[in-house]
Amino acid sequence: MMTETLKIDGLAFKIRRSDRRRTLGLTVDRAGELVMHAPLATSDAELAAWAGAKLLWVHRKLALKEESTPKALAPEYVTGETFSYLGRRYRLVLVDAQQAALDFDGARFLLRRDARPADVHFRQWYITTGKDWLAKRIDLLRRRTGPAPTRVLVRDLGFRWGSCGRDGALYVNWRVLQLPVRLVDYVLVHELCHLVEPSHTREFWRSLERALPDWQERKAELHRGSADLYWCAPAMQQ
Ligand SMILES: [Zn+2]
Repeated sequence: MMTETLKIDGLAFKIRRSDRRRTLGLTVDRAGELVMHAPLATSDAELAAWAGAKLLWVHRKLALKEESTPKALAPEYVTGETFSYLGRRYRLVLVDAQQAALDFDGARFLLRRDARPADVHFRQWYITTGKDWLAKRIDLLRRRTGPAPTRVLVRDLGFRWGSCGRDGALYVNWRVLQLPVRLVDYVLVHELCHLVEPSHTREFWRSLERALPDWQERKAELHRGSADLYWCAPAMQQ
């Protein structure tokens, strides 16, 4: 077994290769050290791509460790709990009768008492509401970056904030809708820049810098903010 280190997105991943390993794995230990477990023959490019796709999860894990306050506990969906939408928290109220399982009246989330499991309805609400909002936002932001995406799709992207399809479609993780607008903007502008330049080349960072001069600040904020995210799906492992 040998140990090496791979730097991705400002994070150091310790690589442990082993001939007994068949698949890639990732752990964050108590001290916040990131360890990737890999089969012997995995190339650095494969490792980087694999870890890159898990950055959201990694940052969230690290942020949770840093804060150590149990902010991101799974909700119980009871009256008085709050849920975030675009950086503001809104109170949840349980109601007995209502047509939609989950409604939002601009001030409160209204959840029908029998609408369980409630996480399904929350996720769906973010996806449905987010679709229109994001499409408008992207239309505004893309004036700074260039071409418009062919489609905007809100999905569960697991560990990633957003991604670009080869066909020019832009995918956004529904969890992004919980963040303040300036952080959503960072995610969107980042992906819009990828429509022109798919990889993280010098050109890419230059265009991001042009479109969003304070992107680094926002990126750091985004990583800190991910600790507050309502994850909805059961805690993700690896
Ligand atoms: Zn990127």
